[in-house]
Amino acid sequence: MSNDDSQRSAVSTLDPRPSALGPDSPRTAPHGMQPGGVDFNMNPFVVIWEMTRACDLACVHCRAAAQSRRSQFELTTDQGYALIDQIALLKPRVFVITGGDPLKREDLYDMIAYARKIGLEPSVTPSATPLLTEESIASMKQHGVARLAISLDASHAAAHDDFRRVQGSFDLTIRAIRAAEREGIPVQINTSITRRTVGDIERLANLLTQFSNVVMWSVFFVVPTGRAKTGDMIDPQEVEDLFALLYGISKRVSFNIRTTEAMHYRRYVLQQIMQAQGKTTDELIDPKTGVIDASTLFMGMAPQHAPLGVQMQTGAITRAPRGVNEAKGFVFISHIGDVFPSGFLPLKAGNVKKESLVDIYRSSTLFMELRDSSRLKGKCGVCEFRELCGGSRSRAWSVTGDVFESDPTCTYEPRALAAHA
Ligand code: SF4
Repeated sequence: MSNDDSQRSAVSTLDPRPSALGPDSPRTAPHGMQPGGVDFNMNPFVVIWEMTRACDLACVHCRAAAQSRRSQFELTTDQGYALIDQIALLKPRVFVITGGDPLKREDLYDMIAYARKIGLEPSVTPSATPLLTEESIASMKQHGVARLAISLDASHAAAHDDFRRVQGSFDLTIRAIRAAEREGIPVQINTSITRRTVGDIERLANLLTQFSNVVMWSVFFVVPTGRAKTGDMIDPQEVEDLFALLYGISKRVSFNIRTTEAMHYRRYVLQQIMQAQGKTTDELIDPKTGVIDASTLFMGMAPQHAPLGVQMQTGAITRAPRGVNEAKGFVFISHIGDVFPSGFLPLKAGNVKKESLVDIYRSSTLFMELRDSSRLKGKCGVCEFRELCGGSRSRAWSVTGDVFESDPTCTYEPRALAAHA
């Protein structure tokens, strides 16, 4: 899909219309400052810059459909500095330089150093290729990298290399984690959940316990975009079963576990916590709004419920104090400067070569509407967890063509629907 197509689609999808919940339904935008001191209307929690799409891997699920050569339209070094200045104005807690493979750009180290100099804590997501050496890892450390995020999709070489479509990728990955360990760099492991990888999760968790520097495991539930196809997704009951497995694992490992594009894991964990206390989540519902204001709730619960992904952490790629969704605490800048609510949601809100990132994040129609949970449709639109969860807008878009539709991978039946059944 071209960017023009994306914009046209966005306009038609985002036409104003009455809320499915009626005129008094809660809206996200006017809430202002949120518990935890983060106002997602003003400041994203996470900013991700796709520095390049060039990459020497050809992974089967690649969001960016990466190519081996760099695009001539990538942001230049000077435009990169200007973008980092803009990002610093937004004061995100997490700033990630991603790709493609950021190591395909020789100015990566300058970008890390500059981001660090102006007060950001840059994380980098290098690809496990021969470019990811002891020397490159040491150099990233010297220039101020805060964390590395490295992809590992299976517990053994054959499955991982098959997934990444490059022989030797598994060994390079393990060597990179060890090299980061020697440099004292915290590492986040990113794992993609597809039909091919889901059966290996327990063994992979056991492998991760062998590294002292793994501080976070980010489990990404695939969205059919880029090279990923709808058939790669696991079905809703398998998602729920995997939540149970991850929650169990989270109680016995030292690293934190969070999900990406599976916002309903927050709902699952809250249900488990309440159940363990002999209660249900019904008693958490605010009678005035019909929603669970879990941001306040979770801040009070920290730190003993690490899997919620709500408390501040040091040494890990920091977690948000409340639910982060597309445009709601999150912004993605592509290699050519286009701004999206997520790297998995091809609805463009502007371009940093022409507009201020700060203005796009705070004031673009697309971002403001995505922050407004009263626009959600279907069961996400009436769900008592919609502020805490809200479902994956990227998956709703890629599967249904409507960014406000329900997340098709959730089994939960909201109370409002159950009452009418
Ligand atoms: S129905 Fe939607 S908002 Fe409710 S838990 Fe499921 S994905 Fe989240």
